Amino acid sequence: MRVKCDCESRCTALDLAVDASGSTAITASVGLGGANRAADVRAVQSLLNDVRPDRGGPVPPLDVDGLAGPLTNGAIGKFQRKQSLPAADSRVDPDGPTLQALNSERSNKGADPDRRTREAARLATAVAAMPDVQLAVQRAISLTEAAIDFAMLGKGLTTSSEPFDFVSKHFKFEGLSRDRTLADLAFIKTTYIRMRSVLRGRTGLTGTLIFGANMFDIDPHPGGSPSQAKAYVPREDGEGLVTSRIYWTDAVDGHPRDRFTYLTLHELGHFVDEEDPSLEIVDHGYAFFGTVLKLNHELRMHNADNYAMMAFDRTFGRARLVALYPLLAAMPA
Ligand SMILES: [Zn+2]
Repeated sequence: MRVKCDCESRCTALDLAVDASGSTAITASVGLGGANRAADVRAVQSLLNDVRPDRGGPVPPLDVDGLAGPLTNGAIGKFQRKQSLPAADSRVDPDGPTLQALNSERSNKGADPDRRTREAARLATAVAAMPDVQLAVQRAISLTEAAIDFAMLGKGLTTSSEPFDFVSKHFKFEGLSRDRTLADLAFIKTTYIRMRSVLRGRTGLTGTLIFGANMFDIDPHPGGSPSQAKAYVPREDGEGLVTSRIYWTDAVDGHPRDRFTYLTLHELGHFVDEEDPSLEIVDHGYAFFGTVLKLNHELRMHNADNYAMMAFDRTFGRARLVALYPLLAAMPA
C-alpha cells in the first residue's frame, strides 16, 4: 500500500507489499549479511515495530528508513530470541520462520475480538470531531483575511496587527517583501478555503459525492498500515482503499477527540493538492516530534501540520494544542 502521508510516523512514504492474506512479503533477505533491499528493510522494520514489546518488539520503535543498521539487525535478533525461533541469526529470509512469525504477530493483533467495537468508536469520534474541524477551518479563513487586510492597509481604526502577528507566529513571515507577504497570505487563505470545500463535500465526475460525509473510513488493513500512523490518505485507489477517504488506524484508539480534530485538519491539507501540484501540501515537519518548529517560511507554506496547528491554536487555544503536542510548548507565545 502506498500512502501519501503516514502522519506522525518517522517515514514519509512507504511501499509495503501486502498480499491477499494481509501478510507482508519480502523479495530478499534482510538483516545481518542480508541483501537488504530498501523496500524489504522498510517492510521488516514496519513489521518489527508492530510487535508488542513483551513479544519481542523494539523499544523505542525503529526508524522505518530502509537501512539495515545495528539497531535493525539487533531488533531482528531480539525478536528471534524472544520467540525462541530456530536460528537467532539476526536475519529475515523471504520464506523463513522469522518472517512467518512477524506476520503471525501482526495477524494476531488483527484477530482481536473487540476490534469491531473499537472501530465503531473510532469512526464515531472522527465524526463527532467534525463540527470542531469545520469551526477551526472557518476561523483560520477569517484570521487570514484579517491578516491580509492588515498587510494591505496597515494599522488603523479597523485593522489590527494581531491577526497578522498570529499568522506570522505559525508561518514565519519576518523579512518578506510586501508583495511576497500578500501572495503567501493569499495562498494560505486559498488552502483553507479548499479545505472548507472538501468538508462541504463535492460531486465527482461520475456524480458521486466525494469527501464530505463520506470522508472517513476505518483502515482495512489492521497491522498492515504504516507503523505508528494514526490516519492516512492513500496515494492511489486499490487494495480496498480510495484516495477520497481519510483512513483511521487502530493507533488512534483511545486518543482524545482533539487528536481527531487536529489530524483531520492535517489530512485535509493533503487533500487540497489534487488538481494542481504547485498547491501541494506535504509533510516537512511534525508537531508530534517538534520538528515543525525548525522549518523556515518556505517549508511551512507547504507543510500540513502548520495549517493544522494555526487553525487549532486560533480556535481552541494554545493550552489545548500543547496538551496534544507537549513539544509545542517551545513555540513562541
Ligand atoms: Zn501528513
